[in-house]
Amino acid sequence: MVDMLKGIAASDGVAVAKAYLLVQPDLSFSKVSVEDTDAEAKRLDDALSKSTEELQFIRDKAAQTLGEAEAQVFDAHLMVLSDPEMVGQIKQNISDNKVNAESALTEVTDMYIGMFEAMEDNAYMQERAADIRDVTKRVLAHLLQVTLPNPSMINEEVVVVAHDLTPSDTAQLDRNFVKAFVTDIGGRTSHSAIMARSLEIPAIVGTKEITDKVAANQMLAVNGITGDVILDPTEEQKAEFIAAGEAYAAQKAEWEKLKHAKTVTADGKHFELAANIGTPKDLTGVNNNGAEAVGLYRTEFLYMDSPDFPTEEDQYVAYKAVLEGMDGKPVVVRTMDIGGDKELPYLTLPHEMNPFLGYRALRISLSSLGEDMFRTQLRALLRASVHGNLRIMFPMVATLGEFRSAKALYTEERQKLIDEGVAVADHIEVGIMIEIPAAAVIADKFAKEVDFFSIGTNDLIQYTMAADRMNERVSYLYQPYNPSILRLIKHVVDSAHKEGKWAGMCGEMAGDQTAVPLLMGIGLDEFSMSATSILKTRSLMKRLDTTKMQELATRALDDCDTMEEVEALVAEYLA
Ligand code: PEP
Ligand code: MG
Repeated sequence: MVDMLKGIAASDGVAVAKAYLLVQPDLSFSKVSVEDTDAEAKRLDDALSKSTEELQFIRDKAAQTLGEAEAQVFDAHLMVLSDPEMVGQIKQNISDNKVNAESALTEVTDMYIGMFEAMEDNAYMQERAADIRDVTKRVLAHLLQVTLPNPSMINEEVVVVAHDLTPSDTAQLDRNFVKAFVTDIGGRTSHSAIMARSLEIPAIVGTKEITDKVAANQMLAVNGITGDVILDPTEEQKAEFIAAGEAYAAQKAEWEKLKHAKTVTADGKHFELAANIGTPKDLTGVNNNGAEAVGLYRTEFLYMDSPDFPTEEDQYVAYKAVLEGMDGKPVVVRTMDIGGDKELPYLTLPHEMNPFLGYRALRISLSSLGEDMFRTQLRALLRASVHGNLRIMFPMVATLGEFRSAKALYTEERQKLIDEGVAVADHIEVGIMIEIPAAAVIADKFAKEVDFFSIGTNDLIQYTMAADRMNERVSYLYQPYNPSILRLIKHVVDSAHKEGKWAGMCGEMAGDQTAVPLLMGIGLDEFSMSATSILKTRSLMKRLDTTKMQELATRALDDCDTMEEVEALVAEYLA
């Protein structure tokens, strides 16, 4: 029987390849007594040297693909492996207690981990504990003769299958070999899904059970447009998927013809189509897809890709590169938005029950722990501002008080730089993301003080519907076209316009082909999305008339009770 799974279509494209399981193997073992302790010490030495060899390889690969700074984390692992004191203690444990290497190893490393973790306030010690935990896992895997998965070691065409992928796992995937990925959990707006779209890797998330159903090397056919995965496809099915992939490629080639075209509707109105980026490297995709601006630069990836807090100079270099790369076109840089599903290995945050509702983004920047980091970022941005058309925005603003505090720190740093004789741009627009319903509801108040709004629907929808954006079990409640969401958006856009300000959107909804006609009708000014959605959106806008879309939006807002009714109405207008 042919097995088929359905998940959430997260990144367009089709692939047929064998599965690479990015799943943690079982590392359980029993403590046993041994007679020949020399042989046991030799098993340990073998496992240590295989681990060293493997880590050295991963380190070199990381240095080539991600850069020297990222590779340094593996140096720390290599140091643990060659620590004579620790290795000596493990061997001592084997010979004194006549136990197997697995248990001697974990007894000693657990003691070190416990000792370092007890130093709760010391981030350096917390990192050492994490390093030892990682290294122990690797050595244990060699002792037990099981393989630890490692995306950077993939060197043939595969579909990666995982329970979940973190944004940093996703960043390590090599597009030349990873033809698609499929996960058990996640939603369309998880950051791994967003990154898949910018890397142009077809992806399906939230299948609930792919890791239970698929074995290593099993053949898979994956369609990231429909969300279908077929296990062990027949030759006929393979041909069908390959044909679907070719049709998608042909469609993309059609859209590409619009790369240098202006975004104008059938009745000649212009909308700004911008791209979302995570690193200066994404500019290639931005320019290849004919973006008119960068509407969201998620700067937290700069922090996540770095072994420690990036310095003011590191940040200045990155911001300058993006501003210059955009050649005078607008670039909206969002200040650091750590928290939720984005973590920093070197910043230990307290464990929280609800990280998306917790200590994150601007809340960190305005706290005593984050203020210096925030000031450093503002200085780097201000210094870079002379190299292009910079706009700054703050994430996760709930209250006017938060905006005023952030703006005050910005104004202070600006003044300090001017006093130091450093050049900064004369005028930089400072805006906020609208991601929290409280801010959306009083957008009329915010509009008097900010220069612009960018609506972050990825979060705004999850907070309005009380449906976790990462949780596939409640993904049916993640409803961009629900009239409640459309009303909030309209209120935000109207409030901005009343004060002569502009309103954009940088949540994934901005590139959603059902939402675009509605947003045009609502009067959104700027649409910022994964670069790979730009050309299809330009193509869609080209054939739509704004007066008709205004009528559509009014009918959706006034007459529709449910998301399904809105979808049906849009389909009627697009037919
Ligand atoms: C959003 O919430 O819509 C947004 C763009 O920010 P992020 O996806 O990074 O949370
Ligand atoms: Mg957000």
